[in-house]
Amino acid sequence: MKKKLIFIPAILFLVITIANAQQPMKHEDTELYTPVPPVVTPGKSCGDAPSDAIILFNGDNLDKWVLTDDTTKPADWIVHSGIVTVKKTSGNIQTKQSFMDYQLHIEWRIPKDIEGTDQARGNSGLFLASIGKGDAGYELQILDNYNNKTYTNGQAGSIYKQNAPLVNPNRPPGDWQSYDVIWTAPRFNEDGSLKSAARVTAFFNGILVQNNFELKGPTRYIGLPTYKGAAHGAAPIKLQAHGDKSKPISFRNIWVREL
Ligand code: MG
Repeated sequence: MKKKLIFIPAILFLVITIANAQQPMKHEDTELYTPVPPVVTPGKSCGDAPSDAIILFNGDNLDKWVLTDDTTKPADWIVHSGIVTVKKTSGNIQTKQSFMDYQLHIEWRIPKDIEGTDQARGNSGLFLASIGKGDAGYELQILDNYNNKTYTNGQAGSIYKQNAPLVNPNRPPGDWQSYDVIWTAPRFNEDGSLKSAARVTAFFNGILVQNNFELKGPTRYIGLPTYKGAAHGAAPIKLQAHGDKSKPISFRNIWVREL
């Protein structure tokens, strides 16, 4: 008799469990209500900064920037008519603020009367994280490749010397062009070893050129990239004053959204 009494609840539990398992799901079972995504007002065009963006350059001044090789000094590239033109003698400039993961918009223009060939034709660069003086960091190449041949993993839209762009959407010199970038910073363990590699998605004039590409390390001009010895945290965003002899390029409308 005692044995039977123990069995009854066990059987009941089994029946209820089977019945529940067979019940079809309802629509509300997969509808989540929290957390609520914050409301953001979009800009008038896709290049306009949305309401939650940090404006890095809006045409007035370079107050948010410093010289890369001496970060105590203000960036002194030439601001004029709402744009900023590279001053090659000053070297690279970078943001005062450091960032981890972000979405960034930037517009750039190669001079209409640009001269030179290969890498010496409107060369600049967007360093997605500046990790030291000079060109230390991760470069998304800027170059005139409207009608200018160079190595594919060194042309505009490439992750320099790591990955060629998916397509070549260059506009002719004299036209404004844009990059929209989603950057995921690399993570490092306490001992300096790599925890997770950097990743980048980039749109060049609105067209996908880097699709969640996983970087092999910071950019290297000579040799293979590696994260060895490169451990870093949040880092500034940097623009390149390239040493080639061609006329300097210009930038405008730079903004970033932290993710
Ligand atoms: Mg460059």
